[in-house]
Amino acid sequence: MRLSQFHLNTSKETPADAEVASHQLMLRTGMIRKLAAGLYTWSPLGLRVLRRVEAVVREEMDRAGAIELLMPSIQPRELWDETGRWEKFGGQLLKIKDRKDGEFCYGPTHEEVITDFARSELRSYKQLPLNFYQIQTKFRDEIRPRFGVMRAREFLMKDAYSFHLGHDSLAGTYQAMYDAYTRIFTRLGLVFRAVNADTGAIGGTASHEFHVLADSGEDAIAFSDGSQFAANVEMAEAVSPGARPAPAETMADVTTPWQRTCEEVAKLMGIELRRTVKSVALMGDQGFVLALVRGDHMVNEIKLAKLPGLADHRLATEAELTEFLGSEPGFLGPVNPLKPITVVADRSVAAMADFVVGANRKGFHLSGVNWGRDLPEPTLVADLRNVVEGDASPDGQGTLRIARGIEVGHVFQLGQKYAEAMGATVLDAEGKAQVMHMGCYGIGVSRIVAAAIEQNNDASGIRWPAPMAPWQVAVCIINPKNDPAVAEAADALYAELRQAGLDTVIDDRGLRPGVMFGDIELIGIPHRVVVSGRGLESGQFEYRGRSDTDSQNLDRAALMAQLGVG
Ligand code: ATP
Ligand code: MG
Repeated sequence: MRLSQFHLNTSKETPADAEVASHQLMLRTGMIRKLAAGLYTWSPLGLRVLRRVEAVVREEMDRAGAIELLMPSIQPRELWDETGRWEKFGGQLLKIKDRKDGEFCYGPTHEEVITDFARSELRSYKQLPLNFYQIQTKFRDEIRPRFGVMRAREFLMKDAYSFHLGHDSLAGTYQAMYDAYTRIFTRLGLVFRAVNADTGAIGGTASHEFHVLADSGEDAIAFSDGSQFAANVEMAEAVSPGARPAPAETMADVTTPWQRTCEEVAKLMGIELRRTVKSVALMGDQGFVLALVRGDHMVNEIKLAKLPGLADHRLATEAELTEFLGSEPGFLGPVNPLKPITVVADRSVAAMADFVVGANRKGFHLSGVNWGRDLPEPTLVADLRNVVEGDASPDGQGTLRIARGIEVGHVFQLGQKYAEAMGATVLDAEGKAQVMHMGCYGIGVSRIVAAAIEQNNDASGIRWPAPMAPWQVAVCIINPKNDPAVAEAADALYAELRQAGLDTVIDDRGLRPGVMFGDIELIGIPHRVVVSGRGLESGQFEYRGRSDTDSQNLDRAALMAQLGVG
């Protein structure tokens, strides 16, 4: 490509309304232009990158045995009524009417359409398993479209749907898709984690989200530094820190006239926050419950609600605190309640000795508290808290780290939910109709472009991983005197690099070097080669990799070797 004949429209200005690096850089490079909230035009430059991602996704889907098709974006209401999702999907579903008042939606996803296709196409178990995929535009009327194409309303998704006789076959394809996703994100040069997103519900089926790690991510991910373990922070299991030490202190009153929080008490006493215990008073369906977590930990509502009697809990009222503990908020604790109570201790709290809790008396806490001696053992020991950085990994290998993640892919075992609702059956070996099992597998193709920039940028602009770069090499011409020999040498190199299979762009716009280099760095071309009069004289080219701090002068052979085509 000759840049003089391309449409490149970069800008130095950081757009005021773009909060994250990827959005800023996609606008500054001119990769995307906003049409309306959550709607973007992909410029020729942006589209080159989007197509690269698409190509890798397509190759790996094909390799994994999925078959490409293309479904309409507009879908009739009747199909969505069959699954009940016309109402259930909510405000994200963009509903439209045609001239005959027929109701349709712009597809946010395609389970209904593909299941309709499968029920009319597939007759026999012998045709299964089958995995269909498409790469197609989706529309979701997001409440808060933001970060450019990261959370857009119209976006490009790869969605695949597999059909099976029986769960085992589904599990096999699920694993194949999991592996394909791993290859896709690895090939694209992204740092990612596959997060177990198991719904945990009875009859729930396997699900993993693939997250690209980046500070701007919307989800907090806990992952092990010693294994493949990764989970959403809210879902990750917090394991016991080990055995409880023997008591070393005697229980004593601490005067805390104004100190009501663990932080305030720890500060007053000059001790670590992790030696205090936070008491959260709840009313469950079997009465008063005191939930205990360490002062430096946070209660996890999802985990609490899974405990016996706490499915529908609420915070206890001040009247209930007085009735059960004889205390007001700020001084609550499990020692000497007025009435029998249920004490649910987090695993870390159960492993503590000599801890600090509220004394159930205004203005007092207790120090040196020990289980079994100063109060009975907890009624129940359970996982009640969010994991924190440094916790042991629940799989027993390594330590947890916490990072933010951007969801770029999602694989899901749907089971028979859609096939059941829509009557998608095949005949089994005995000639009996069987409801098919299904899996669905999504990738946010356009979101990947933004996520990759989040991970790969510096003060000069984007640093594309090679497989995503719009071009691999930029040949830059410095030729202020319009010397025909320089132009010819640049053209010859350009032809040669393309001949060698390198996707090359030649910057023949005649710009000043600083401006030209600024553009090439901004748009993130991995390799830059300068052809100039001075270089020609010495028979050398000035080479610089996008991440290099300096350029180097290389002769033709060394240049080719550097570009991997020598
Ligand atoms: P999110 O939790 O980010 O809203 P989701 O779980 O609703 O996503 P899925 O239904 O799993 O998304 O869709 C498959 C993939 O499509 C997601 O993993 C994500 O990469 C991408 N995606 C979803 N919503 C958007 C959006 N509004 N803009 C860009 N990509 C999106
Ligand atoms: Mg998802």
